[in-house]
Amino acid sequence: MKQTTDVELDLAGVGAGPFNLSVAALLSEMPTVRARFFESREAFVWHPGLLLDTANMQTMFLKDLVSAVRPENPYSFLSYLVKNKKFYRFLSAELSCISRQEFSDYLAWTAHQLPNIQFNSEIEHIEFTGDHFAIQTQQGQYRAKNLCLGVGKVPLIPDCAKPYISQRVFHASEIGLKDQDFTGKRVMIIGGGQSGADIFLNALQNQWGQPKSLDWVSRRANYQPLDEAAFTNEYFTPDYVEAFYHLDAQVKRHEIAQQKLTSDGITQQSLLEIYRALYHRFDVLKEEKWIRLLPHRTLTQLRQGTGSDAGYQLTVTNALSQQQETHAADVVILATGFVAPTPACLSDILPLLDLDENNRYTMDSNFELQWEGQATNKIFAVNAGLHSHGIAEPQLSLMAWRSAKIINALVSRDAFDLSTHQGMIEWLTHQPAMEPVSSPL
Ligand SMILES: Cc1cc2nc3c(=O)[nH]c(=O)nc-3n(C[C@H](O)[C@H](O)[C@H](O)COP(=O)(O)OP(=O)(O)OC[C@H]3O[C@@H](n4cnc5c(N)ncnc54)[C@H](O)[C@@H]3O)c2cc1C
Repeated sequence: MKQTTDVELDLAGVGAGPFNLSVAALLSEMPTVRARFFESREAFVWHPGLLLDTANMQTMFLKDLVSAVRPENPYSFLSYLVKNKKFYRFLSAELSCISRQEFSDYLAWTAHQLPNIQFNSEIEHIEFTGDHFAIQTQQGQYRAKNLCLGVGKVPLIPDCAKPYISQRVFHASEIGLKDQDFTGKRVMIIGGGQSGADIFLNALQNQWGQPKSLDWVSRRANYQPLDEAAFTNEYFTPDYVEAFYHLDAQVKRHEIAQQKLTSDGITQQSLLEIYRALYHRFDVLKEEKWIRLLPHRTLTQLRQGTGSDAGYQLTVTNALSQQQETHAADVVILATGFVAPTPACLSDILPLLDLDENNRYTMDSNFELQWEGQATNKIFAVNAGLHSHGIAEPQLSLMAWRSAKIINALVSRDAFDLSTHQGMIEWLTHQPAMEPVSSPL
């Protein structure tokens, strides 16, 4: 039976994915702040359906939960290496980029030590009483003065595929959750980002059996690399985010569109691995070609074929030929990305929030939502401000910095020193106020 607890919190976290975990890890050194992060899963696991054998991180391991603002915190990646007795072997392995499995293990190691994470506790409902938030979880009810929303994203399924979602048409995030057998099947992957690449490589290496054919469709003009150049990385710095926050909304949209490949491209390492695997199979071993790379194509229609083993008919538009093409598949994997959810537990609070014309939160530079009760109670959100704070928002790169900003705003003091030294790039030059240009009239 659900109980009403008399636990009163200064901060309740909704969800304990990596982003709220970072806030929780930094708060663990501030015992006067009564915080608890509620997580629906029974144990920590990081995007379990996509923890594939060959999948690597896109970000460096030093961009962990805490190091960028508090390297001496016990939950740094370095601390994880030392405490797990693998520091020297990690160095000898010379990993410039670690596996997602290892980062997930680090996150789980942290989550299960932190006293302020409560698993098996889906938040079902949150109500604002005028003074505090009444939080209904599967484990009972709690009172909290402030909230930090960290619910992550949900799979984006193209409309044309929605009626066919099944064991044979599914989102990429499901691939590792069920037993798969692609033996003798025509497999088609839709989506040319990192998840599509990871699944293509695993399928090519017969991770799920030897398919009859393997097609990889991408809307992009080619299988495009993640832009990881030195100056590009400046987009993932506090200096840039602070400058970005104050830009005009239209300029922000343009910047985000321009920067797509700085976060959504495929790592050079994955591309080379795929290219080499293809070369080995089809140019060295001289296998008859059973794969097809199909860039520049957008999925527009999906239909079930007729007959018991007819599979699916996919219509795509080829941006080069400007023609429609049809392809057949038995298994369709939608590596089509993720979108922001509207969490059901917030249904009571949503009417109190200031949302923009696209129903997105409006947030100040400290990731604090603008809303009716803001004068007395704060609501923060992580991974919800791509439009306001820029492309680093959905990435791990600045999570520790963002968490520190949130905590500083929560406690109304600089618990973390976030002042920066001179930046590499001068994004905006502050000029003295200009004289208005005089009119010729
Ligand atoms: C496969 C994959 C690989 C990625 N790799 C990288 C990378 O290498 N580098 C990088 O910078 N970024 C990467 N990202 C992007 C980003 O870093 C991750 O998506 C990250 O997990 C986002 O963290 P989060 O905490 O916002 O969300 P999530 O990890 O989705 O966590 C949200 C949590 O909230 C819980 N929850 C939701 N609703 C409730 C509720 N009502 N009550 C209780 N709990 C709830 C969920 O169970 C979940 O555990 C990757 C994304 C994916 C999908």
